[in-house]
Amino acid sequence: AKAAGRGTLIVFEQGMDMVVQDQHALEIDLRRALQRGEFELHYQPFINIASGLVCGFEALVRWRHPQQGLIPPDRFIPLAEETGIIVPLGAWVLERACADAVTWPVEMRLAVNLSPVQLRHCGIVETVGGALRASGLLATRLELEVTETVMLAGADSRKSLQAIGAMGVSIVLDDFGTGYASLSYLAEMPFSKIKIDRGFVADLPTHHTSRAIVSAITNLASALHMEITAEGVETEEQLMILKAAGCTHAQGYYFARPRPIGDIEMPRQAKKV
Ligand code: C2E
Ligand code: CA
Ligand code: CA
Ligand code: CA
Repeated sequence: AKAAGRGTLIVFEQGMDMVVQDQHALEIDLRRALQRGEFELHYQPFINIASGLVCGFEALVRWRHPQQGLIPPDRFIPLAEETGIIVPLGAWVLERACADAVTWPVEMRLAVNLSPVQLRHCGIVETVGGALRASGLLATRLELEVTETVMLAGADSRKSLQAIGAMGVSIVLDDFGTGYASLSYLAEMPFSKIKIDRGFVADLPTHHTSRAIVSAITNLASALHMEITAEGVETEEQLMILKAAGCTHAQGYYFARPRPIGDIEMPRQAKKV
């Protein structure tokens, strides 16, 4: 029994060792990738449901790895957050995205995701202001998407968010319904838009509870004068249910997948999709 216990321990230690080594190698890779310019942004449009017009695009980061090909953000953002690399990576995303968006028609907005780790960093207000100044993008064209965790974050993060909002940038509450946010925070924070998590959207046609939740969120958002976007819309059926529930904006594969900037046919003026 003792031997078996020891054996188990050794296997466990070796397993841990491997994980640690992997993470360390990835961390070095991440830093080098940023220096070598291996990250790129893909853009996915969001649409006004009533008019069918494209309102803007969300920037989504990818890692063009020389050996492994295109790596999705879920595979490196968590480590970038743990190691703090998200701070310079996030700054690059902001600068790149603002520089791209300034070439679009003026009615097109830009949405950029902001990690809670970036928001905790003391330079975040200056990073956002700097990206706007360097690109010449109007602050009112920029939306920053944060998740519910920012509402549990400290007073400093909330102050930064208020300061960014005061510059004219819109703050969007992303992945709504997945976290632990208390509804009272909604009124406290300067959110101008809520994004319903795609988990609810996927369940819409089959789950009556999801419909009830989406209706409730939509009612709440309109009472608080916030726009409401449904993400992960893949079918016309989902879109029709969302529209009936009073959802104003939508985003998802039904309209378009995220694409590199060069592959997007940018309308001269907002146009129907
Ligand atoms: P998110 O902000 O919730 O972004 C939406 C995700 O849903 C994107 O995945 C998008 O490609 C995907 N998506 C869009 N439409 C559909 C659909 O119809 N069906 C399905 N199944 N998926 C859809 P992606 O690009 O892999 O990004 C994953 C997450 O990584 C993002 O979730 C965001 O939390 C994070 N992320 C991406 N870019 C950045 C960034 O620049 N900075 C930070 N901090 N996080 C980022
Ligand atoms: Ca987002
Ligand atoms: Ca989301
Ligand atoms: Ca998400």
